[in-house]
Amino acid sequence: MSTFQAPKGTYDLIPPRSAVFLAVRDAISAQARSAGYGYVETPGFEDVNLFARGVGESTDIVTKEMYTLTTKGGDQLALRPEGTASVLRAALQANLHKQGNLPVKLWYSGSYYRYERAQAGRYRHFSQVGAEAIGAEDPALDAELIILADQAYRSLGLRQYRILLNSLGDKECRPVYREALQTFLRGLDLDEETLRRAEINPLRVLDDKRPDVQKQLVDAPLLRDYLCDACKAYHEEVRALITAAGVVFEDDPKLVRGLDYYTRTTFEFVHDGLGAQSAVGGGGRYDGLSEMIGGPALPSVGWALGVDRTVLALEAEGVELDLPATTSVFAVAIGEEARRLLFGKVTELRRAGIATDFSFGGKGLKGSMKDANRSGARIALVAGERDLAEGVIQVKDMESGEQRPVAPDALLDAVRGILG
Ligand code: AMP
Repeated sequence: MSTFQAPKGTYDLIPPRSAVFLAVRDAISAQARSAGYGYVETPGFEDVNLFARGVGESTDIVTKEMYTLTTKGGDQLALRPEGTASVLRAALQANLHKQGNLPVKLWYSGSYYRYERAQAGRYRHFSQVGAEAIGAEDPALDAELIILADQAYRSLGLRQYRILLNSLGDKECRPVYREALQTFLRGLDLDEETLRRAEINPLRVLDDKRPDVQKQLVDAPLLRDYLCDACKAYHEEVRALITAAGVVFEDDPKLVRGLDYYTRTTFEFVHDGLGAQSAVGGGGRYDGLSEMIGGPALPSVGWALGVDRTVLALEAEGVELDLPATTSVFAVAIGEEARRLLFGKVTELRRAGIATDFSFGGKGLKGSMKDANRSGARIALVAGERDLAEGVIQVKDMESGEQRPVAPDALLDAVRGILG
């Protein structure tokens, strides 16, 4: 046995559970693809300043959770803790926003890294599928993304999740609120670090999960009461569009999220079967991010859904995904000559697009049939010396149990006939 273990806060995805992860990624991305989002892939690491500037200097992600490194060439890099800043950086670098077809709609899927206190549902290496719509200020775009995420969870069979919705205002109204909140926070009994945070980024304090802090925040001023008319109207339109789509949500005036770049619409999908790490996905509008990382003004909106927690949510609800068997045909050969013949047939079937596996390792009939069963294949092909002498391959329908001899040349048709 190996003495090495996966690093703390990480885990390996292995069959059969790994198939569920793939299906979840696929179900989420299917929604984005169905709405005109194109696939984007960015590096696993970036200039550390992209995240410091974009995600925010006072966020936990930047101050505590980034995996940073200095290369031998002296570059300061960070493993990506989230996807939005990278995707926007890539869009700006490729001048996608200058091609006259805004919004640029992109989706992605990948691994993200945060040096967090590892616990159930919170890992140091985790997986997200995200979607970003760059360069348009349109409440229908915010609504589209929320509806797509809802549809993704729904299509997977999840039911026990809630959508929390809020508006964080814009550069007109947020500063006014920020000051009101700061004045309020200065009067509370908070530790030094939290007071410092209140000066740099007071909204962040609202996200403090500690009960003694939360208790003091009950009477905190709410951004909702400070929204300017434009933000209010925008938010009302988003709410109306989601409601018209039949998507149920809850207004959560204290929702601020863990990243600084959000403006106006913010939302989170929380699942009630997950305990403390209940957020399965989240997102919002980030109208200022492009300028923060050196680009032009590009109002944008997006989300990232956590694959790991979505799988945990499926397990919590007892949802079994209907995963079709990956192998349709399993070939069992007894004896050298039969192996040669059937191995050739396996290749032929695969080339015809039929997922086929083979009894490797020279097992006997019994062991090989067990493998065929385990593979979930609909059809087992069996050939031994006697079959070869008779010039046939036995084709067994594993569902009905029926078995019949078929000439090698007629095999493909016979298999197709059963698979339908
Ligand atoms: P965030 O942008 O931080 O809200 O992340 C979006 C989603 O990614 C969350 O709702 C989680 O489902 C997932 N996520 C974030 N951090 C972690 C983590 N450390 N472990 C597992 N999933 C995470």
